[in-house]
Amino acid sequence: MSGNDARSAELFARARRVSPGGVHSPVRAFRGVGGTPRFMTGGAGALLRDVDGREYVDYCMAFGPLIFGHADPGIRAAAEAALGRGWSLGTAEPYSLELAELISTRLPWVESIRFVNSGTEAVMSALRVARAATRRSKILKFEGCYHGHTDSMLLRAGSGLADAPLPDSAGLAPDVVQETLVSVLDSESALEALFARHGSEIAAVIIEPLPANYGLLPQRTEFLQTLARLARSHGSLLIFDEVISGFRVCFGGYAALSGITPDLVTYGKVIGGGFPVGAYGGRRDLMELVAPAGPVYQAGTLSANPLAMCAGLATLQRLTDTAVYARLEQLGARLERSLSNLPHLAVQRVGSIFWMCHAKQQPPTVPMRAPSALPADAGKSFAPLFHSLLDGGVYLAPSAFEVGFLSAAHTEAQIDALAQRVRQHCAP
Ligand code: PMP
Repeated sequence: MSGNDARSAELFARARRVSPGGVHSPVRAFRGVGGTPRFMTGGAGALLRDVDGREYVDYCMAFGPLIFGHADPGIRAAAEAALGRGWSLGTAEPYSLELAELISTRLPWVESIRFVNSGTEAVMSALRVARAATRRSKILKFEGCYHGHTDSMLLRAGSGLADAPLPDSAGLAPDVVQETLVSVLDSESALEALFARHGSEIAAVIIEPLPANYGLLPQRTEFLQTLARLARSHGSLLIFDEVISGFRVCFGGYAALSGITPDLVTYGKVIGGGFPVGAYGGRRDLMELVAPAGPVYQAGTLSANPLAMCAGLATLQRLTDTAVYARLEQLGARLERSLSNLPHLAVQRVGSIFWMCHAKQQPPTVPMRAPSALPADAGKSFAPLFHSLLDGGVYLAPSAFEVGFLSAAHTEAQIDALAQRVRQHCAP
């Protein structure tokens, strides 16, 4: 689209011959915005570099894990030290222990934790624990919330399905689908109706307490409190999926911000410092159901990989300093302020997570708390904005429905430059 992507175009043509859509995760293919995905060779700090030698200020940050930016020297040193000691042990080791202790001493609701390799695995396993604990089979989720690609969660999901032709994945077995109930965000009455009808069958309710996979849709605390109360009173477990919000909005994630204690919680992204990690944890009595302590089987050849554990530990140790979050809040507030009062644009933000909703036909009205509150043309309107930023050396996640992430490596000057470009694009 821009003429700056000759080498990326060549690689994309080759990639499409050997991999579906030319990528290994759908949103990367630029389907939502058109044009050629840039093939990136690496990054440093807030910058990403592509194969054609161009640099971009990155606001995707690998979809969230890189809270200190690309190739952060401290995290790199921790990972390199781990590499030197051997990168896969398949044994008990001290690194995951240190990370587990760091988390459970600070987060009272994480009495026990198990590390896995992705957010998807974390969710899949937490659901299994919930079903075993309650001896019930139904799971309640919310429209627009994404919980990874385990079958039962691929209904009305967000993320790459937000702008897909159909909101549900193909290939799901009908008996799996039957066990998933879907409610709408921001509606106590919908929840009450669902619990009145199915309360005794619901093993768990899973929610992103800060939904961030269909744009950013902050929920009212009262809504989350009602959810927690209904779950408790019907004997269903409450699972907070904090794969994005955990260690990102503050060390304790959205559970800490909202003051609501989940029974189980899932983490990913920041917890591994950018290496492949997920984790699930929560009440000791529930986690003691997991093998080998209990009968719920869950295992992994590469689980608690030492590189990932050491990178995660280096990341989380630094995040125990609240100054990092104060700095991220400062940067976020600056971005939000400089994008206020623009025609066709609304910004929703919590800390270092932001989302720009651009809609030409129908102006977005804030706050947006559910997918149904988004303007109909939000998806289409985003592509020209995305490409004008890309041409100007700014990399956003290539979809209208993905959020943006700031890192501690971003500067005021970079944020001002982003705001200026967006203002230019939105100017009447
Ligand atoms: N839960 C949430 C809230 C997520 O945002 C994601 C991924 N973006 C997942 C689960 C799945 O994590 P992964 O991609 O690591 O499997």
